Amino acid sequence: MPKKIAAGNWKMNGTSAALTQLEALAPVAAASTGVLTLICPPASLISRAAGLGVEIGAQDCHAAVSGAHTGDISAEMLADAGASHVITGHSERRQDHHETDADVAAKTQAGWRAGLTVILCIGESEEQYRAGQTLDVLRGQLAGSVPQGAGPDNIVIAYEPIWAIGTGLTPTVEEIAKVHAFIRAELGAAHTEGAEISLLYGGSVKASNAAEIFAVADVDGGLVGGASLAAADFAPIVTALAAS
Ligand code: PEP
Repeated sequence: MPKKIAAGNWKMNGTSAALTQLEALAPVAAASTGVLTLICPPASLISRAAGLGVEIGAQDCHAAVSGAHTGDISAEMLADAGASHVITGHSERRQDHHETDADVAAKTQAGWRAGLTVILCIGESEEQYRAGQTLDVLRGQLAGSVPQGAGPDNIVIAYEPIWAIGTGLTPTVEEIAKVHAFIRAELGAAHTEGAEISLLYGGSVKASNAAEIFAVADVDGGLVGGASLAAADFAPIVTALAAS
């Protein structure tokens, strides 16, 4: 059975004061049997966030171990700081930093090299969605960015339609079901144990729609942006996943 994961991505939000949100979330995480509760804070908070009772991930990494890469951070540094996971291929990295599938694959392998579990994001643009190209786009992203060797113990795939991120819009549950079944089949065909990889849905998940989304077949959890910043908003999402 794929693992259930409630993952929060704080993006470029949060200073020391935000650590109290993790302390508030910790008892909910502990009580949510069968769910891995994970928060990906900014890199500046990782070392202080680790050990507060919630699993901690990073939002990006460089492909190299070390070197002349001003402003970047390696997967080894993230692991050293206390991260157990790293996000790769988020659409904001693909768009704002022009990351290609090959870049995402290299960063994913860097995460593995450092012993991190990678949460690899894929998703179509609004234009591609409207043109009916969603599955073709995802097929290409999976083929180009998920390295050989991917399996349930080293990777999680997050399906995040770009048009649903931060917009309040979501696909229908039928659309999510169709896409997740497609991703499951593609991973199963391409990788040993690929069908056991956890699949997260991301894009405007909140307390009010979490239970409905988590009830969809082949949805093993969520990657949550805005609604992960406050424990009061994220806790009911974690609880909904535990109940699903
Ligand atoms: C995200 O950026 O990964 C995300 C899903 O954001 P939001 O939940 O705010 O739509």
